Amino acid sequence: MTTDTGSDTDFLDMLVIGGGSGGVRAARLAALRGKRVALVEQAHMGGTCVNVGCVPKKLLHYAASYAHAFDEAPGYGWQLQGPVAFDWAHLRSARAQEIERLRGIYRRRLEEAGVRLVAGHARFVDPRTVEVDGQRFQARHIVIATGSRPRRPDLPGAERGVDSDAMFTLPAIPRQLVIVGGGYIACEMASIFQGLGAEVTLLERSGQLLKGFDTEAAHHLRAELSRQGIRVELDSKVGALRPADDGRTTVEWQDSHGHAHGTPADTVLLATGRQPNTEGLALPEAGIATDEKGRIPVDADLRTPAEGVYALGDVATAKPLTPVAIAEAQQLIDHLYGPAHRRSPRRVHDTYTPTAVFTHPSVGSIGYSEEKARQTFDAIDVYRSDFKGLKHALSGQAPSTLVKLVVDRASDQVVGLHIVSEDAAEIVQGFAVAMNAGATKADFDDTVGLHPTVAEELVSLREPSRQS
Ligand code: NDP
Repeated sequence: MTTDTGSDTDFLDMLVIGGGSGGVRAARLAALRGKRVALVEQAHMGGTCVNVGCVPKKLLHYAASYAHAFDEAPGYGWQLQGPVAFDWAHLRSARAQEIERLRGIYRRRLEEAGVRLVAGHARFVDPRTVEVDGQRFQARHIVIATGSRPRRPDLPGAERGVDSDAMFTLPAIPRQLVIVGGGYIACEMASIFQGLGAEVTLLERSGQLLKGFDTEAAHHLRAELSRQGIRVELDSKVGALRPADDGRTTVEWQDSHGHAHGTPADTVLLATGRQPNTEGLALPEAGIATDEKGRIPVDADLRTPAEGVYALGDVATAKPLTPVAIAEAQQLIDHLYGPAHRRSPRRVHDTYTPTAVFTHPSVGSIGYSEEKARQTFDAIDVYRSDFKGLKHALSGQAPSTLVKLVVDRASDQVVGLHIVSEDAAEIVQGFAVAMNAGATKADFDDTVGLHPTVAEELVSLREPSRQS
């Protein structure tokens, strides 16, 4: 990356602050439209997704999946001779190499598009001017895409815990891992590290994992994680992290009945949410105040209160997901310079956004939970099925699969789709297309199933299980 120095002000069409998924997409698309663009990044290109998020997490998820495959293989006649060994140091370094390769690709693609890369920390001098280590830039459009970082809870001894960034470079797989939190990261890391051999305790303060997800799907996942041996404690309250005599950490917590526990841990993961990266941007100089969640407020066209300044991705959005940031970048470029390919550009947040939790089994979800649909629509029908998939007829394992549709009775439109199953993420992507096209339950019924698959169940649900 080149570092600009000097004091003259540079005049640009667009200045992007942040080299994560959203910022990179915005900068590249603008440059490909012939605009004069610079992108400022203070750390590694690729942001959270590439460096300490989606990509390395998915690699670890794949690694953990082998543990389940080894458990299932004997049922299919495989004879695994002797204990199967796992080499964490190998995985850690293979992951690091792959991430380095991806960073290079991001850099190269930006440079090839003509984006000028600036290394350093950006801060506003006034609503039109940004300074990076003494170099000043003015741009017709400034895009803030600085992402988010883990938020540490206010707990005595919290400094003894690590955040999700640190999980990729742990010196060894913890023998005992305690996870505080029950959201995406807590569930994914619990599943990964249990698969890689850790004894995992997950402490969630509310009565449900994955708040905001369909309650039945979240309970189904909880049951599956527990069946595999992960200790999931709902309605638990973490009091403190204390040093133990053996140099490890004792996590003091209370269970749902008020009983006190002290669980020893080699590693304590604090997975209690993320906060937007706005520190040091000097947003008040631009006339921007963050909201109560620390986010930069934006309107439907991603405009901040400052003229010509836009924000996208985790720093601004209520849906902090990589593809949302990328879609917002596309939306912004279409809005500013006109749509390149699409006939009618859509606003990201007006569409059904699929999401997945990469646990084992994984959770795939689109649209309204049953609970949210009940609050939103006059009448809904819920179609559901839970069953043991064909794969497990011989695997000797007994995971249960859940598929579920939530239908608005007035329009017959499918407004919610939830799956807890292996490959749930791969399944829901295609259904998101159908739901964005307005698919009705009748359309699902008219679709021929693909046999034998889990996905065919979604077009084979005939009788509602619940109506309200
Ligand atoms: P989430 O918001 O998903 O979950 C936070 C969890 O921490 C909740 O269970 C919450 O409990 C709990 N919590 C919050 N504060 C405290 C506290 N003080 N003490 C104890 N528990 C607390 O955050 P994550 O960090 O898991 O993930 C951040 C975001 O990153 C996600 O929302 C998601 O958008 C994104 N992400 C997406 C992934 C994917 O697409 N697969 C993977 C990983 C992250 P409660 O429920 O009671 O509020």
